[in-house]
Amino acid sequence: MKKRIAARVLAQSGMGRLFATLAPPGGILILNYHRIGDGSGSCYDRELWSADPEAFDAQMAMLARDCDVISPGDMDAVRGRRGRHVLVTFDDGYLDNYEVAYPILRAHGLTATFFIATGFIDRPRLPWWDEIAWRIRTTAATRLDLRPWLPEPLEPARGHDAAIGAILRAYKALPVAESGPMLERLRQETGLETPARVEGMWMDWNHIREMADGGMTIGGHTRDHPVLSRLPVERQREEIETCAARIREETGRPMEYFAYPVGSQWAFDAQTVACLQAAGVKRAFSYYGGHARADSPPYDTPRMAMERYVELPDLAAMLWAPRLFCRPDPA
Ligand SMILES: [Zn+2]
Repeated sequence: MKKRIAARVLAQSGMGRLFATLAPPGGILILNYHRIGDGSGSCYDRELWSADPEAFDAQMAMLARDCDVISPGDMDAVRGRRGRHVLVTFDDGYLDNYEVAYPILRAHGLTATFFIATGFIDRPRLPWWDEIAWRIRTTAATRLDLRPWLPEPLEPARGHDAAIGAILRAYKALPVAESGPMLERLRQETGLETPARVEGMWMDWNHIREMADGGMTIGGHTRDHPVLSRLPVERQREEIETCAARIREETGRPMEYFAYPVGSQWAFDAQTVACLQAAGVKRAFSYYGGHARADSPPYDTPRMAMERYVELPDLAAMLWAPRLFCRPDPA
């Protein structure tokens, strides 16, 4: 909160611009989005909507005016150079990336990188986070017993968002041998049939190929979007190699870049990095804040979350003074 107030004071006083003229920062600011649109009435995970189309358009206008928006392949060349270098990235592969974000990016002459969880493109279905949110918002059950994974039974009517948040936090922290059974129990307790297929949620390969041909970079984000560090190494390898194979088959291009699902410090490990290197990945992106510098490790390239509450002065402050406004989250 303090940071955001400081960002606004800086922006309103014009000091930020002056500071920027005197000392353009080095390094690369990497922004990460998920969905563009209005998710306020959605039965799915509303935290996934990063901006509405108007806000995203205004953000891209600011980047086009004030920065050099680059591709991951340019990163080594610009590192250490002064200037405001920015990378725009999207995770998961939602359809609004193609329908809403891509036309806005093109209108501003900008490029972006889209990290795709290929299993959802191949077989469009609810991902675990959206299924959890949908079950809590839709169930007729008044009391959900998820013990031992959650200490107390949940009462969805007392607050959907709090219940969804509690389940998602528990799910991400559990090893896969536990998170699967927890989701299975939630299915029983909520009593809704999982839809085998969802329409209008994910891009298809035609959309992805069109964006690749239009100058966008397509990267990998696993097949089924597990928290990789929670999997045994052979399953990590399978998730990464299947994703790489599908991207190569469908786009004709290698998977050179990768974003870790969830992306926290604990969401990947040394085995994950070894699997990525074996699959030919040159750089992988995390998601716990920070500003990429010349010495940032290539398999832990930091990204800043773009969320609905990030307003233009906040973005400006991140651009002008990344050392102040792009600190990594505490471990
Ligand atoms: Zn993701």
